[in-house]
Amino acid sequence: MKEVSTPYLLHFGEVLELRLLYDISQRTPHLSPVMLLKDYLITAEPYYKVIENELAQFEAAFHDRMPIMLKGPTGCGKTRFIEHMAWRLKKPLITVSCHEDMTASDLVGRYLLDANGTVWHDGPLTLAVRHGAICYLDEIVEARQDTTVVIHSLTDDRRILALEKKNEVIKAHPDFQLVISYNPGYQSVLKDLKESTKQRFGAIGFNYPARDVEAEIVAHEGGVDKATAAKLVSFAERSRNLKGHGLEEGASTRMLIRVAQLTARGIPLGEACEMALILPITDDPDIRRALSASIAAAS
Ligand code: ADP
Repeated sequence: MKEVSTPYLLHFGEVLELRLLYDISQRTPHLSPVMLLKDYLITAEPYYKVIENELAQFEAAFHDRMPIMLKGPTGCGKTRFIEHMAWRLKKPLITVSCHEDMTASDLVGRYLLDANGTVWHDGPLTLAVRHGAICYLDEIVEARQDTTVVIHSLTDDRRILALEKKNEVIKAHPDFQLVISYNPGYQSVLKDLKESTKQRFGAIGFNYPARDVEAEIVAHEGGVDKATAAKLVSFAERSRNLKGHGLEEGASTRMLIRVAQLTARGIPLGEACEMALILPITDDPDIRRALSASIAAAS
């Protein structure tokens, strides 16, 4: 399988490769689940700065394979956390970025026509359920309702997945765990998770870290010194104060890291903020001016 920068993140092309891999495995049953999922094992430790007691909380939940919801605003470390946990627990991680065109078949699998006729291809969720991986459904509310219903039987005592089109019911592998991410700030009533879905998950709360902790993360990830990182965090705090007053979301840790990376490459701080912090979050010229002015004042 080709190398990608984040080998454990599943993109469309990789879903196809994964399907091919599964197809090969059906013809070559000597390939063990370990071999099948080896590209989804994280071998190098993903840097993760612990915020509270989330490591112990997740480990306890994993022990019982409890379905977990990582709840918090965008860009605050949810994905990095699950990557880190998969590495700690030595379990493969299959990540699916959910989107509004995603159907249940994209998760579960489908029949496809190839040279040998019609062949079933497991989707990423089925692969994780069958062979034992952590399946991370990122931004699940983006997906269509029929997609969320698919996970119900996996998130109660049954731990089964029904492949209706294939007339097969799979009992989840003992290592299978379902993890979803959920950003409560984004959701409209129409797009919110159903109550019956929410109640199937334990939740670990995430938020932007305390000032000095966030600065440490930005310095580490963005390649800048602590003083610059601290300044960037104070900019982000200003934008976060505007949430609900013209801004839907304040600047995330991810955005600060981008600003830091630009400055580390020689872009002046003001310009880097404009590029990676102000322009992406607002189309409103007044808010943009206000943010630029407050950043200039704090610089
Ligand atoms: P989310 O999944 O919540 O949208 P990410 O996990 O992608 O956000 O976080 C964005 C970036 O912020 C990460 O790539 C990482 O560089 C950094 N980050 C945020 N929180 C942490 C943390 N606690 N430890 C290490 N890096 C972090």
